[in-house]
Amino acid sequence: MKKILNYINGELVEPISKSYLDNIEPATGKTYSQLPDSDESDVALAVAAAVAAFPNWSQTTVLHRHNILTDISKCIAERIEDFALAETKDSGKPISLSHSVDIPRSVANFEFFANAITQFSSESHETDQDAINYTLRHPIGVVGCISPWNLPLYLFSWKIAPALAAGNCVVAKPSEFTPMTAFMLSEICREVGLPKGVLNIVHGLGHKVGESIVSHPLVKAISFTGGTLTGSKIASIASPMFKKISLELGGKNANIIFEDCDYESMLNTTLRSSFSNQGQICLCGSRIFVQDTIYEKFKQDFVSKVVSLRLGNPNDKNTQIGAVVSEQHKNKVLTHIQIAKDEGGIILCGGNSVSVEGFEEGYFIEPTVIEGLDSSCRTNQEEIFGPVVTLIPFHDIEEVVQKTNAIRYGLSCSIWTKDIYKVTKLTKEIKTGIVWVNTWLNRDLRTPFGGTKDSGLGREGGWEALKFFTETKNICIKY
Ligand code: NDP
Repeated sequence: MKKILNYINGELVEPISKSYLDNIEPATGKTYSQLPDSDESDVALAVAAAVAAFPNWSQTTVLHRHNILTDISKCIAERIEDFALAETKDSGKPISLSHSVDIPRSVANFEFFANAITQFSSESHETDQDAINYTLRHPIGVVGCISPWNLPLYLFSWKIAPALAAGNCVVAKPSEFTPMTAFMLSEICREVGLPKGVLNIVHGLGHKVGESIVSHPLVKAISFTGGTLTGSKIASIASPMFKKISLELGGKNANIIFEDCDYESMLNTTLRSSFSNQGQICLCGSRIFVQDTIYEKFKQDFVSKVVSLRLGNPNDKNTQIGAVVSEQHKNKVLTHIQIAKDEGGIILCGGNSVSVEGFEEGYFIEPTVIEGLDSSCRTNQEEIFGPVVTLIPFHDIEEVVQKTNAIRYGLSCSIWTKDIYKVTKLTKEIKTGIVWVNTWLNRDLRTPFGGTKDSGLGREGGWEALKFFTETKNICIKY
């Protein structure tokens, strides 16, 4: 059976304890590889390697870092087939998604930050008192990057690439549920000659490896994507140590549909924004607010599209809905569907786990649409993070703004209308970090990415990421 290894100080190494965890394929429910059950002592080695590598790496030229990140990007692109297959096996997502989104975006993350660092500049301010100020942005030192299982290499590289580009050394942990592509990345780093200790990848459990990275005194900043509860735990450890933290957390996003929208475009995109990656994307629009004048028509059209989605073997290129990531997560989603029923929700379609021929032990759930629930109930307030959406009718702008904002989360929102008045009013009043108008998941890597309220702290992407991964110093010189 394939064994994943830690990547520490440029070497692929076993965990010190020699203990391993099973890595399960969600589509079959079977163990197909093993990953290190690392602990504090492995993290200590990784941090020591990163500390030792920092003086040289931070002094390398921007061109050198540009070249090495570009090489990593090219190597992933050359092996897109292998990476996509591995991502699908590890996470249960359809191969079409791994191939068209996850891996291309991982390639783009390295490429983007390889180029962005060559354009990163800082400000100068000439003062009235015959002096000039200028700002320097230095690499911070050793930084920690912790990422979740839903977009494994995509989110892992989204953190590592800007951290390395800015001249930091990194200790990183992918999710225990989806470690394979991070392991493949470590093999590429060795091939392209990334100096030893610059990137270290330690596999294992969140409460062991993740917490050890967060609490290590020599790790000066933490970039984390994951659940809100975990984010709050990380903040409680890192904040008293005065570490920089960037937290990208949960969401319960609204998809607001007005009667005057481009109906076909809205319908097709809403299908994607509801069920892509089995609804396991933090940006999925799980609360669908529909203007009452078109509610019945939308309901009928939407449900008929949802029931025709092709669910099954994630490796089949025609599959649209694969397996959810784990048995534990499947049970969590099914519990939420039961809660919706107990709250009086009407299941318009789906609602059950499914047995797929040839994949009987896999973790499959039908795409599920629910109506009849008040926007303040648990189903409409708690993040389910699965193939489950609710339909909520609304009458006017005031009502939908109030309901959209009446939630602890504030990650993203989509608005569907052709009316500029509605667009300007809603984009101003809705309290989320990202608002899409007549589109969804339309990403430009230069833009600030992140949420408000319990959806997180700070922003990633473009200059925001490079600013996060650098320490700012102002210098004032008298003429
Ligand atoms: P978790 O918070 O459970 O885990 C995220 C990562 O943190 C994993 O690597 C996990 O390891 C690790 N971890 C767990 N506990 C700790 C700890 N105490 N200290 C340090 N690290 C820890 O999230 P999930 O993996 O379940 O991901 C789903 C969540 O991520 C959803 O809430 C989703 O909304 C959010 N998310 C947010 C995004 C955003 O940009 N805002 C984007 C994507 C997802 P292990 O796997 O071993 O538990």
